Amino acid sequence: NTITVISCLTAAYTSYKLYQATKSPLRNIPPPRNGVEELIGNTPLVKIKSLSKATGCEVYAKLELCNPAGSAKDRVALNIILTAEKMGLLTRNDPNKQGWVFEGTSGSTGISIAMICNALGYKAHISLPDDTSLEKLSLLESLGAVVNLVKPASIVDPDQYVNAARKACDDLNASGKGQGVFADQFENEANWRIHYQTTGPEIWHQMDGNIDAFIAGCGTGGTITGVAKYLKSKSNPYVVLADPQGSGFYNRINFGVMYDSTEKEGTRRRHQVDTIVEGIGLNRITQNFKHGESFIDESMRVTDKQAIGMAKYLSINDGLFVGSSTAINAVAALQLAKRLPKGSRIVIIACDSGSRHLSKFWKEAKVVDNRINVDEILEVGEFS
Ligand code: PMP
Repeated sequence: NTITVISCLTAAYTSYKLYQATKSPLRNIPPPRNGVEELIGNTPLVKIKSLSKATGCEVYAKLELCNPAGSAKDRVALNIILTAEKMGLLTRNDPNKQGWVFEGTSGSTGISIAMICNALGYKAHISLPDDTSLEKLSLLESLGAVVNLVKPASIVDPDQYVNAARKACDDLNASGKGQGVFADQFENEANWRIHYQTTGPEIWHQMDGNIDAFIAGCGTGGTITGVAKYLKSKSNPYVVLADPQGSGFYNRINFGVMYDSTEKEGTRRRHQVDTIVEGIGLNRITQNFKHGESFIDESMRVTDKQAIGMAKYLSINDGLFVGSSTAINAVAALQLAKRLPKGSRIVIIACDSGSRHLSKFWKEAKVVDNRINVDEILEVGEFS
C-alpha cells in the first residue's frame, strides 16, 4: 500500500543521504579548537606525483608547512614552552612577573615561539642573524616579537645569535623585571621528544606502517632524531640526512669526521656565507643531533643549484611551493629512489613554504626554466 511505499522510499532516501555524507570530503572535518596552539600537528601527507612517476618509487611529503605558524617548529616551540611551564619556569598570566621566552634562531623557531607566546600570554625575544630572509624578519615584527638582529658569527663568539639570546634571558632574570626562559632549541631535548611523540607516529600511521625510507635535513637535529628514533622502533626504514653544501653532517655521518677540510671547529658554517639555503646545516654536534645520530644510515650532500632546480620542478609539476630545506630533501629522495627497488615508499619532511623564502631562495628559483626535468636537476650538481 501507499504507506509502505512511502516508508520504503524514505528509508532508501535516508540511506542514500548517509552514503553521500560518508563519501563527502567533509566527513573528516575536525571540530573547533580552543586556540591556535591546538592546531599544531596532525599535518597532511601528500604524494609527490611527479617524482613518483619519474622514479617508479612512491615519494611522499609530510607537510609541516601546514602548521599554524608555518613550519615544523610549531611543535617544538609549544613543547619547549609547555615543558618550561611544567618545571615551574613560566607561569601564564602571572600578575607580578611577565613571562618571556628567549631564543636564538635563523627564523622558523622564532616565528613559532612568537605566535605561541601571543596565544598563551607570554612575550618573545628573538635574536636573529641579520642575513636571514626579510620575510622571516617581517613576520617576527608583525607578530610583535622583540627582535635582536646580530651579525652572523661563530658559536664561540659571545655575540652569536644563540649566545646573544642566552645572555638577554640571563639579564632579564637578573633584573627581576620578568620571568625569562631560554628555549635553547639546539640542546633542549623537548625538541626531539615532540617529534618522537607526534611527527613520527603520524607518519607511521599515514603510511599504514609501510615505509622504506625517511629523509630530513638537520638544523638542530630535533626532527630527524625524533622521527627516525620512532620509525626505527617500529620497523627499519633507511634514514637519510640531506645536507646542504658547506655543512659538516655529511662527513660526520659518512666518514665519522665532523668538519669539512675547509672548516675548523666552531667556525661559522661555510654555506651560511656562500649559499642561500636556510634552516639546515651546521658544523657542530648539538644534543638533539647526538641523541639521534645512530639512527641515521647515510647523509647525502645536495648543492644549492640542485635545490633551486627541484623547488621550481615541484612548484610547476605538483603545485607544491616549498622552502629551500624541503627542496634539498626532495633532491635526496630523487637520488635515493634511483638505488631503491621500484615501488619503494619514501617520506620526506616539507618543513616550510616557499613564501618564507621569496626574497632569497625563490628569487633564484623562479627564473629556472619551467620545463626542467629530474635528470637536469641532478646534472647541475657540481659545486661552484
Ligand atoms: N627546515 C627549516 C626551514 C628549518 O627552519 C629547520 C630548523 N632550523 C629545519 C629544516 C631543520 O629542522 P631541525 O632543527 O629539527 O633539524
